[in-house]
Amino acid sequence: MSDHLTKILLSEDQIPTHWYNIAADLPISAPPHLHPATQQPVKAEDLAAIFPPGLIEQELSTERWIEIPEEVREIYRLWRPAPLYRAYRLESALGTRARVYYKYEGASPIGSHKANSSVPQAYYNKLAGITRLTTETGAGQWGAALAFACSVFGLACDVWQVRNSYETKPYRRMQMETYGATVTPSPSARTETGRAMRERFPDTPGSLGMAISEAVEEAARDPHANYSLGSVLNHVALHQTVIGQEALLQLESVGERLPDHIFACTGGGSNAAGISFPFLHRNLTAGANVRVVGCEPAACPSLTAGEYRYDFGDTANQTPLLKMYTLGADFVPDPVHAGGLRYHGMAPLVSAAYDQKLMDAVAIKQRDAFAAGVLFARAEGILPASESNHAIAGAVAHLQAAEDDGDGQVVLIGVSGSGQLDLPAYADYLSGQMLDA
Ligand SMILES: *Cc1c(COP(=O)(O)O)cnc(C)c1O
Repeated sequence: MSDHLTKILLSEDQIPTHWYNIAADLPISAPPHLHPATQQPVKAEDLAAIFPPGLIEQELSTERWIEIPEEVREIYRLWRPAPLYRAYRLESALGTRARVYYKYEGASPIGSHKANSSVPQAYYNKLAGITRLTTETGAGQWGAALAFACSVFGLACDVWQVRNSYETKPYRRMQMETYGATVTPSPSARTETGRAMRERFPDTPGSLGMAISEAVEEAARDPHANYSLGSVLNHVALHQTVIGQEALLQLESVGERLPDHIFACTGGGSNAAGISFPFLHRNLTAGANVRVVGCEPAACPSLTAGEYRYDFGDTANQTPLLKMYTLGADFVPDPVHAGGLRYHGMAPLVSAAYDQKLMDAVAIKQRDAFAAGVLFARAEGILPASESNHAIAGAVAHLQAAEDDGDGQVVLIGVSGSGQLDLPAYADYLSGQMLDA
C-alpha cells in the first residue's frame, strides 16, 4: 500500500450496480410492518396511497441484491463513487497506531448521504406518473436532498419543515427554494393534523413526527402526490448501501483488510445501515468479524435507552406500525440539542440488527461530538456535519482507550455530510455557549 495515499478513489464504472438488502441475510427475519387498524402485516396495497410500486416492492423485499436503474446510476455519477480517505493527520493528532479511514458523503450536491435515497425515490415516483412529492424535514438536509432530486426529475416538491428549524436555520430553506421546492413551517394551517397540533400546543417548536403527519396527510389526499421519507424505512436503508459497498472496494483496492470497527452516526439509521450492512453481509455469510458501532446523541438515545416495540413513525399515528427501538412517537427533543439526529425511532432493519447483537451502540454528548468535530476539521480539513461528529467522537473515544495505541487495528468512520451549514453550532461550541445535552 502506498505510504502517502490519503484519498482513495474508484473509477466511475465502479459505482455499485445493485443495492444490498440485509433482510435476505438476517438470522431472524425483521418483524414486518403492521397495518395499524388490523395489526396484520402491511400489504403492498396498504402502502399504495402514498408510495409508488417500485419503492413498495423494495420496502417488502427479501431479495438480497436489487438492481440500481441506469437512470439512477447516471445521477449518482455526479458525485459517486464518494471518496474514502486514510486519516493520516487525525491518526497523528491522536497519537494512535491504528489505521483510520473515513468515507466522506459530503461531496454530494446537497452535502450529505441523503441524495443516495432521494434520487431513486424521485425516480420511482416519476416512473409511476406522480407529479408532486411531499415530505418533512428537520434541519433541512432531507428536504434539500428531495428538492434536488425533484428538480432533476421535474417533480414539484412540497416540504414541511419543523418550525424551530424553519425559524432558526434559514440557509437550508433557501437551498430548498433554490431547487424549486415549497417550504412550509410545521405544524401548519395547511393540514388537519397541523391545525389540531397548533390548537393543542400553540407554542410547540414542532417535531419530525408532526411534520411527517402533515406530509403524509397531504400525499394521501392528492392522487397525483406521493410521500417521501428520508430515513428509517427499509427502502431508504437499502439505497444507502452504495456507501458500504464502495468502501469495501476502496479498502480492497489499496490492499487493506476489513475494518475491525466501523463508527457511524445514527438518527433514523440510514447512513449507518448504508455504510455497515455490506460489511455485516461479510460477517453473516463469509465469517468476517467487523464490529459496527452506532453513535447516537445522548439527547435522543433510541438504541441505548429506547424500547424495542411496535410504534408509529409519526405523531398523528397515520403511518404503519414499525418494530423499532423508540422513545415514543410523541417524543419532542430538547431544542438545546444542536447535533441533529432528533428522530424518536430507529430504522427497523438497524433495530433488528441491534436486537440480534449484530451491532453495538453508544450515546454521545453534544460537546464531546463537537470537540471531536473540531479536532477532525483541524487535522483533516474537512468540516463534518453535526451529525457526523457523533461518529467521529465514537471513534476518537475508542482509539484513545485502545490498548497498544491501537497497533494493527483498522477503523472506518462514516462521515455522512459536510458541516458548512452547521457553522452556527460550531460557533456556539467554540464560544463555550453549547450546553452539554
Ligand atoms: C440526516 C442526516 C443524518 C441522520 O440520518 P440517518 O438516517 O441516521 O443517517 C446523519 N448525517 C447527516 C449529514 C444527515 O444529513
